[in-house]
Amino acid sequence: MIIDVHTHVGKMGGKIWTPRDLLASMDEAGIDYSILITLEEQPENRQLTVEEIIKVCEKSPRLIPVGRIDYNDSIDKQINEMTGYLKEKKIVGVKFYLGYQKYHANDSKLHPIYKFCQDYNFPVIYHTGMLETGFPGLLKSSHPLTIDEVADTFPNLKIVMAHTGNPWIMDCAAVVAKNKNVYMDFSGYFTEYQSLDPEEVEMFIRQLKDFKIFAGFKKCMFGTDWPLYPQKEYLEVSNQLIMTEEEKELVFWKNAKEVFNLKV
Ligand SMILES: [Zn+2]
Repeated sequence: MIIDVHTHVGKMGGKIWTPRDLLASMDEAGIDYSILITLEEQPENRQLTVEEIIKVCEKSPRLIPVGRIDYNDSIDKQINEMTGYLKEKKIVGVKFYLGYQKYHANDSKLHPIYKFCQDYNFPVIYHTGMLETGFPGLLKSSHPLTIDEVADTFPNLKIVMAHTGNPWIMDCAAVVAKNKNVYMDFSGYFTEYQSLDPEEVEMFIRQLKDFKIFAGFKKCMFGTDWPLYPQKEYLEVSNQLIMTEEEKELVFWKNAKEVFNLKV
């Protein structure tokens, strides 16, 4: 079984990407399930709301919804909504857009939802690493080391660092190795909206080899960030990483099943 833990639908790169497009891509790649993450709101780019993402996934059981907290909107109101959706099992986790929104991961305003997720065993997912060129965000907010503070404050909260922390891959490795509650996903590493560049593929394999030597692959998960990258190619490249059979199972589905409490 293969689970992609990081995908989106909505308006991206000047095009509208539908759930049907995602399902077709999954069929082409041989991916069984995709975690579908609600995007952050951008000024002239209205994205699907959490409620809309939930409806999409109700119609397509191979898509599994994750909500989000928009730091620029009312936090308390959204915490109420997200904890409600989590309790009703309408979403499986909550995403935070660090860097794209300028706040610290361990901001005390967010502690109530972290505590809730820790108590009820739901994961939180963070954007980590690079931001889109020209985007008025802050890299300081999306650096992997900020996650260490949340992991230390909430030692039983399941945390997923998206995008390998790229380009701070060894910083990401340090945070994953030090904190038993922190995982990472392979998604969003390459240049967007094109076939994977051979030089970047070589770098991905080399850097993840270093990551593995330091932190192992036992808390890593396969993810793509589709539609920014083709799932089929991403899967082929991820399969080139040297892994034991046990690591392969963990990376391609077992960790996803456990972290997101999936009934698959
Ligand atoms: Zn993403």
